[in-house]
Amino acid sequence: MVYILLAVLIVLTLLLKSPKVIGMMGEASVKQKLAKLDPKIYKVLHDVMIKQPDGKTSQIDHLVISPYGVFVIETKNYKGWIIGSEHSQYWTQVIYKRKEKLYNPIRQNYGHIKALEGYLEDSSVTFISIIVFGTRAELKLENMNTDVIRSPQLLSTIRKYQTIRLTDEKVADMHQKLATGVVHSHKERKQHVRDIKEKLAQDRKMADSGMCPRCKGQLVLRKGKNGMFKGCSNYPKCRYTSST
Ligand SMILES: [Zn+2]
Repeated sequence: MVYILLAVLIVLTLLLKSPKVIGMMGEASVKQKLAKLDPKIYKVLHDVMIKQPDGKTSQIDHLVISPYGVFVIETKNYKGWIIGSEHSQYWTQVIYKRKEKLYNPIRQNYGHIKALEGYLEDSSVTFISIIVFGTRAELKLENMNTDVIRSPQLLSTIRKYQTIRLTDEKVADMHQKLATGVVHSHKERKQHVRDIKEKLAQDRKMADSGMCPRCKGQLVLRKGKNGMFKGCSNYPKCRYTSST
């Protein structure tokens, strides 16, 4: 009996340490917080997958549709120091003495907003990007315009936006459009992951051939603080960079 209990405990401990479970718990806690918003004003949707015109999908962790704008929320479950700035392509996670690169989540969320704009076919909607880290992260950010916060600040961050930008009718219309437009099947999810991998490979291939994957401009060799890199010749209009 004691052995069974012990085995169960070990499995539980391992599960709680797996990144997938930690990610799920992080999103669950954000979900709980969003449930405290007044449902008459704020319409909340989770795990929204948007089909783009090219057939690909964009996955959004949480959407809050309100008269103050549409909040597009991306959750990040990293621990340690998170170092970054608004415009850099990558941020750095420092954990103990290890450094890891992560794609700037503001840029990632910007992609989600573009997909939403395309899906809604409406350029008059105000989107507000929020990046939420858990309490295990310590944020060391500079030059921020976007709200990059830890989960305890989520509700106060949403509530600080008080300028009415959308009619209730429009809020309801968008809510319906986005709620029925979401796709949830396991198959579509798998496809989403495949799309991301494919896109990365395509971008890499393009960059290797000297073409900017973002604007199809020419990539030129530049010298940076950390050595040579490829940058877009349309800089500063296009800020695409890649390693050589
Ligand atoms: Zn470019």
